[in-house]
Amino acid sequence: MGTDRIEYRHTAPKSLLNRGTGFLSGYSHSLNPYAGCAFGCSYCYVRRMPVAAFRGAEWGAWVDVKREAAALLRKELRREKAKGPVTLFMSSSTDPYQPIEYKEEITRSLLEVMAEDPPDFLFVQTRSPLVRRDADLFARLGRKVRVSVTVETDLEDIRKRFSPAAPPIPARLKALKELSAAGIPVQATIAPILPSSERFPELLKPVANRVCIDDYFMGDGSGGRRTRSLGIEAIYRELGLEQWYGPDAYRIVYERMRRVYSEEQLFVSRDGFEP
Ligand code: SF4
Repeated sequence: MGTDRIEYRHTAPKSLLNRGTGFLSGYSHSLNPYAGCAFGCSYCYVRRMPVAAFRGAEWGAWVDVKREAAALLRKELRREKAKGPVTLFMSSSTDPYQPIEYKEEITRSLLEVMAEDPPDFLFVQTRSPLVRRDADLFARLGRKVRVSVTVETDLEDIRKRFSPAAPPIPARLKALKELSAAGIPVQATIAPILPSSERFPELLKPVANRVCIDDYFMGDGSGGRRTRSLGIEAIYRELGLEQWYGPDAYRIVYERMRRVYSEEQLFVSRDGFEP
């Protein structure tokens, strides 16, 4: 998880909160502490969005660090709360706990603002075990926060094939366990579902009491079209695991999870991300 192959820039954005639209229309706003993402997952469709397409560099090879983000959020949060309920999704087009966050602490600075002046709800979405560092601030938000850690599979060799620069699965499970133990509302998010083993439910059960399953077809906001344009299917073919690529593949994982989770604890696609 090195940061050396990445081009970092510091930017001074004029605004931080974006209106929640499409998949996130249940939220008043999305909040991205960075632009770009060092994890560079193969299936990440953000690379096709304007923020990445106009950059002219490979997705995963650049990250913009938003300077003065906390001061901006403090101002925008106050303004938006005066207008009505504020529900935030952090983050929709970057990982708020990617490696540079160890040093820059932009995400932490935003959480400090929110701990003082809480939004009505905050959904935190990450793949990184660094999220544990901010347990103290999540605790101050109480039931107004949910921390979702993506665990697409329990198989490290599969994870490495699809997202080699993202954190190892065992570290993510450990993060979920610690946050759960601290009483923070968590969710293990299997999205996009990747091929996984029969043991997966038993690994998740002790670390998260809520699971969301999503795939390319329900979750990429375009019925799978965006994902098809990334050529992800080829990886499944190379692995001889085509049965895991298709609109019904999520049912394999859903049925397995039902052995240890109740229907109330299991969410599919958008339902698991709602405020
Ligand atoms: S961590 Fe999220 S934002 Fe970053 S590359 Fe992977 S899917 Fe995209």
